[in-house]
Amino acid sequence: MPSRVDLHTHTTASDGTLDPSALLEKASELSIQYLGMADHDSTAGYESVLPLAARFPAVRLVPAVEINAEGENACHVLGYFFDVGHPVLQKELARYREMRLSRARAMVQKIRDLGVAIDFDQVMARVKGDSIGRPHIADALRENGVVRTRQEAFDRFLKKGGAAYVPGEAPSAAEAIRLIRSAGGIPVLAHPCYDTSDDLLGGLVESGLMGIEAYYPEHSRSLTRRYLELAERYHLVATGGSDFHGPRTGRTALGCVDVPESVIASLQQAQSRL
Ligand SMILES: [Zn+2]
Ligand SMILES: [Zn+2]
Repeated sequence: MPSRVDLHTHTTASDGTLDPSALLEKASELSIQYLGMADHDSTAGYESVLPLAARFPAVRLVPAVEINAEGENACHVLGYFFDVGHPVLQKELARYREMRLSRARAMVQKIRDLGVAIDFDQVMARVKGDSIGRPHIADALRENGVVRTRQEAFDRFLKKGGAAYVPGEAPSAAEAIRLIRSAGGIPVLAHPCYDTSDDLLGGLVESGLMGIEAYYPEHSRSLTRRYLELAERYHLVATGGSDFHGPRTGRTALGCVDVPESVIASLQQAQSRL
């Protein structure tokens, strides 16, 4: 049975393949009660489905976003329950999206320099929302028959060390954390299994981190337990989600990770401590 809580999903507002209303509908079919559309640097998906809330009364939409932080403490920072209309937050997210655009342009140029057929307009045609990402480039490469899957595009061209990799310009983790808190939200370290050392976690907590994504598809039972222990040690809310990007993206299914419903109350309690 799918989890009743999925706080980490993506839509076409960033690099997901389902549009926000289709995702909401799917969540409703799966009886998901709390859904976070945590698009990269964008709240457009969340905002676009607010008018549909009455049609899906059983699904509560949690304001959410995912910010990629670069620099020494590179990681992804999720934000929850912030004020979506907060002007500074929205201004900064728009600036991060601009940085994404220049990075994507540079990567496409690098791919072209390798003699591979792709053009930037073709990539842009795949961007349905306002936040471009590497998966859009991957999809254009797939369309051109250069690769078979998004993963292959990452392995050959787009990942760190790939032939067309360009480092992203992005805020530092401390900046992302501060931004989310200043908009009244809870900053949470996303998928700590990917690139996060224990040292990094200590630094992030000093910067104001308030949560850690303990429940995640890539986390084994023992890894989840480890993150739950770290959550306790640092007084962090343990959140979770599937990181669903849409069907046939090579990623996991919506609601595939068991996330306790108590997470919602814990996030709200954390918010009262801001
Ligand atoms: Zn992420
Ligand atoms: Zn994500």
